[in-house]
Amino acid sequence: MSVLTPQSSSHFDVIIIGGGSLGQATAWQLGKRKVRTLVLEQFTFLNQLGSSGGVSRQFRIPYPEEYMVKLVKQSVPLWEELQALTPVPLQDKVGTLWFGDPTVHSTEGNIGEAEKALENQGVPFTTLDAGEIEKQYHFRNLPETYTGLFQPDGASINLRATLETLLQWNTLSSFVTLLDNAPVTTIVDNKTHFEVTTPQGNFTADKLVLTPGPFANSVFNLLNFQINATYWNMASAYFKVTQPGIQYPTWFVFQNPVDDHGSVNGNQFYGFPEVSWNYPGYVRVASDFVMADLSSPEQRTFVPNPKELGYTAQWVADHMTGLEPVPSFTSTCLVSLSTIKNKELLLGFAPEYVPNHHRITFCTTGWVGKFVPLMGRILSDLTVDGHTPYDISHFGARPNFFSAFTAAK
Ligand SMILES: Cc1cc2nc3c(=O)[nH]c(=O)nc-3n(C[C@H](O)[C@H](O)[C@H](O)COP(=O)(O)OP(=O)(O)OC[C@H]3O[C@@H](n4cnc5c(N)ncnc54)[C@H](O)[C@@H]3O)c2cc1C
Repeated sequence: MSVLTPQSSSHFDVIIIGGGSLGQATAWQLGKRKVRTLVLEQFTFLNQLGSSGGVSRQFRIPYPEEYMVKLVKQSVPLWEELQALTPVPLQDKVGTLWFGDPTVHSTEGNIGEAEKALENQGVPFTTLDAGEIEKQYHFRNLPETYTGLFQPDGASINLRATLETLLQWNTLSSFVTLLDNAPVTTIVDNKTHFEVTTPQGNFTADKLVLTPGPFANSVFNLLNFQINATYWNMASAYFKVTQPGIQYPTWFVFQNPVDDHGSVNGNQFYGFPEVSWNYPGYVRVASDFVMADLSSPEQRTFVPNPKELGYTAQWVADHMTGLEPVPSFTSTCLVSLSTIKNKELLLGFAPEYVPNHHRITFCTTGWVGKFVPLMGRILSDLTVDGHTPYDISHFGARPNFFSAFTAAK
C-alpha cells in the first residue's frame, strides 16, 4: 500500500519507522492530534514477518509487578476507544487462567506474587486448587500441588482486526501518510530535522518514532545505538476440537523445566479459546519457551522447531480434554526480548548520548500486544509533549539497557 501522492509534502512533523501494530497505533494517536505523520514500513502493511504476525494474543491483567497490573488496567479505556471504530470485536473476553506449580518463578513471574499484585490493585480474581482447575476448565492429570487463579477480564485479542482497524483509520486520516515497501536505510541528523532515506525517496521530519519490532537494532544502529536483546522464533500449534461446546479461557501453565527437556528457557505452555476469527474449530496452544535463542532476526526460519511442537502436543495429550492430540496446523512468530531480568519492554527516548535524543522515541521488545492502543498514546505523548502521565519509569533507557554501537570493521 503506497498512499504517498505527488502533492504530499516530503517534510513531516513525525516519521514513524515500523508499520506494525505499535507504529499504526502511534500514527492513530498522532493523527488525532493533527500531527503530520509519515509511517514507513519495510515490507507490506499487515505483513507476517515481524512480531504482529498471526492473529491471537493474550490480554491479561495478572502480572507479578503492580506497575504492570496498573498499566494493563490503564489500557482498557484506550481499547474501548479503538473498539468504537469497528463493529468487529477486538477482544473475546473469556478470562485468564494462570495455574501450575506455585513455587515456579519464571519469565512471566509467579502465581502468588501475581495474586498479591492483583489484590493490591483491587482487581478481582478467584484462587483455585488443582481439582477445581480440572473440574471448571477442562484440564486433567494435574499434580495435586498445582494451584491457580482465574481473572475474568482476560481476553483473546484479535490482533489482525486491531491492526486492520488502525490501518483503516490512518488511511482515511488527512494527517497520516502511509508508505510500505519502504525500508529505511539511513537516518541523518541535520540538527533541526532528521533526513530519512528509503528506496522510495528521502523524507524529513522534526521528530522520529522508532517501532521496528524485532528488527530494532537494524534501525537503532542507524542512529549509533543498540539494545541488548535476544530473539525467539516461537512455534504455535492448532488442535482440532473433538468435544463440541468445550470452551477454554486464555491460560498459562507454570512448571519447572524437566531434566530431559533440553530447553534453556523453561517448560511452560499457554493457550487460547476457540475463536471464530482464527481457525474456527481449533484451539491454539503454544510453548512459552524456545529450544535455543537466536542472536539476530536474520537467523529466523518459518519452520517451527519440531521439539517445541512435540512438547506442546505432549502437554495437550496429557493434560487437556476435548482436543485431538496431534496438531493440524502450525505457525511461527518472531519476538525480541530484552536481556534484562523479566524481559520487560523497552520504551522511552533514545539514550542521552544520541544527539537530539529527546526528539527520538521508541518502543520495542516484550509482550506488548495487550498494550497496543496504550503504547500508541504513550509514544504520541512523549513525541508531542515530551512526557506522559503514564508511569513508564520501569522501561526507560537505564544504563544497562544499552550498549554503545560499534561499527563493524
Ligand atoms: C508468538 C508471539 C506471541 C505473542 N503473544 C503475546 C501475548 O499473548 N500478549 C501480548 O501482549 N503480546 C504478545 N506478543 C507480542 C506482541 O505480538 C508484540 O509486542 C506486538 O505485536 C507489537 O509489535 P510491534 O509493532 O512492536 O512489532 P512488529 O509487528 O514486528 O512491527 C515492526 C515493523 O517494523 C518494520 N520495520 C523494521 N525495520 C524497518 C526499517 N528499517 N524500515 C521500515 N520498517 C521497518 C517491520 O517490518 C515490522 O513490520 C507475542 C509475540 C509473538 C511473536
